[in-house]
Amino acid sequence: MLCRKRYMYDHENIFAKLLRHEIPCNTVLETKHVLAFYDINPQAPIHVLIIPKGAYGHAQAFYTKATAEERLEFGDMLGRLPEHLGLSSFRLISNQGKEAGQEVPHYHVHLLGGKSLATILA
Ligand code: 5GP
Repeated sequence: MLCRKRYMYDHENIFAKLLRHEIPCNTVLETKHVLAFYDINPQAPIHVLIIPKGAYGHAQAFYTKATAEERLEFGDMLGRLPEHLGLSSFRLISNQGKEAGQEVPHYHVHLLGGKSLATILA
């Protein structure tokens, strides 16, 4: 179901602070519109978060409001990262909303790999 409720982007969320360099992160790759960095609490040997630099709180906001350039760059980053990290097998996850497990209200995709993920869902 599409969520039609207006949402307010929280400029004090942890990824917004990270993008403003108020807190540090371990960057993997960075482009004009996209940042990829290691998760602080990795759930696999390789756990990278990919975020747009724009103020999009979740996937739906990003894919309906972002510019074509931002969306293209985000896709390019997802395409480049696995080879950059030496991964041919990996999992991409994105949670939208508290019930789905989204803790940080800034759109992000988790890239997990480096071990068998076949039996892991949580
Ligand atoms: P979510 O549950 O919103 O899908 O995922 C949020 C992710 O952000 C979690 O995997 C969590 O470990 C990660 N995270 C939260 N705070 C920080 C932080 O300050 N730095 C980094 N690198 N990752 C964070």
